[in-house]
Amino acid sequence: MSTKGSKEPKKITFMKDKYNEFHEWYDEILEKADIIDKRYPVKGCLIWKPYGYKALKLTMNILKRLLEETGHEEVYFPTLIPEEIFALEKDFLEGFSGETFVIEGTLSKRLDRKLLLRPTSETVMYYMFKLWLKSYRDLPIKLYQHVNVFRYETKHTRAILRVREIASFIEAHTVHATKEDAEKQIREAIEIYKKFFDSLYIPYIILRTPKWDTFAGAEYNYDFFTVMPDGRAIELGSVINLGQKFAKAFDIKVQMADESFQYVWQTCYGVSERVIGVLLSIHGDNRGLIFPTNIAPIQIVIVPVIFKGKEEEILSKCRSIYEKLKSEGFRVHIDLTDRSVGDKYYYWEMKGVPLRIDIGPKEVKQEAVTVARRDTGEKILVKDEELVSKLKELMEDINRNLYERAKKWLNSNIHTLIDISDKSKIPEKGIVKVPWCGRDECGLELERRLGKEALGFNPEEKAHGKCPICGEKAETWLYLSKKY
Ligand SMILES: [Zn+2]
Repeated sequence: MSTKGSKEPKKITFMKDKYNEFHEWYDEILEKADIIDKRYPVKGCLIWKPYGYKALKLTMNILKRLLEETGHEEVYFPTLIPEEIFALEKDFLEGFSGETFVIEGTLSKRLDRKLLLRPTSETVMYYMFKLWLKSYRDLPIKLYQHVNVFRYETKHTRAILRVREIASFIEAHTVHATKEDAEKQIREAIEIYKKFFDSLYIPYIILRTPKWDTFAGAEYNYDFFTVMPDGRAIELGSVINLGQKFAKAFDIKVQMADESFQYVWQTCYGVSERVIGVLLSIHGDNRGLIFPTNIAPIQIVIVPVIFKGKEEEILSKCRSIYEKLKSEGFRVHIDLTDRSVGDKYYYWEMKGVPLRIDIGPKEVKQEAVTVARRDTGEKILVKDEELVSKLKELMEDINRNLYERAKKWLNSNIHTLIDISDKSKIPEKGIVKVPWCGRDECGLELERRLGKEALGFNPEEKAHGKCPICGEKAETWLYLSKKY
């Protein structure tokens, strides 16, 4: 990717404070680093540029591989949903009615029925599941699709994190003969998502959503949350037990071994490109982005440090190192633009390339290269013959370091709050966990008094003390935060 002739100012001066002016940092870095372009004149619809799109694909491919490894098969279902099918499950209809786009005609003709743009594909798929499924022998089915979905977000849109066209949504849908099988599937899905977020070095907490906030049409759901640099919580993904609600609404029954006909049990779970917006926010710093090495569009950039009279030997070494690393499977790039060496450093740091290799006269002479880490700024001289193994080692170390930093941030942003009476002791930022009796009315009152939204609770985590609203024994902790 040549940047020659680019209209970028010669000197890249990206110097925003990620923690104190996060939104400015976020908006500016996504455009400067060529992740997206927001200038398209439909609110909430973004252009993904090649550099950003490559990172997105590398990210989503990790999840697709995990789904495939656990027996999920990829499918494609249509974007358009007839209104009468969308309306079959009434909680779902109510939950999505404000967000779903409607097509009523063409430029010159009115349609005889309304068609909706999928905000998610339950209703599209389940209409077909009724036609497909006859016997318990047809079960389980575990399918996923990787598509765009449309949601008319009424809140402020925010690049990648809250959009109206979700460009990259991986939604999985499963069907089972028994309740126990569906519950087992929920546990498998949670394990898949844990592996996925772990492989992006994003720390998280997993919470069961309180009843009043459960996904439309579901029995219950578990959400993965992390904390953004501005101290707000964000949902990374959701695992949903639909029970038999959709099966009843869509009349999906199978004949069991004892010849009786029973409604099926269903689950679904989804993750969108939001995960990459979160990842870039969490790992970046005041100089720009920092990609973990497994999803970095460019893992290593080679910068020739040209000295007069030595051009040929330096460039020839750069090329041979480039060829070697490419043949070893690294995503590597040489910067041959006419920018100064210093400007090249700033530029690639801003773009988040995890490793840089500098080659000048010293390196040629010593049969070595200088390797600089993006995460720590540390530079080391590595002998040519040790380069490949050293790079692999450094990559692991960078990823480990990114994860540790992120984990520290998340841990320092979860606060236990026993006494809610003193307003000055309620943290403004981050997540608070409060002892809770488990009753909806107390949870809703906690939301109101703390000025935060309930994220959920961990059913296995017992709290001590009393519910601060009703004074009864606390059953668990309710997690609350300002959220995206
Ligand atoms: Zn209570």
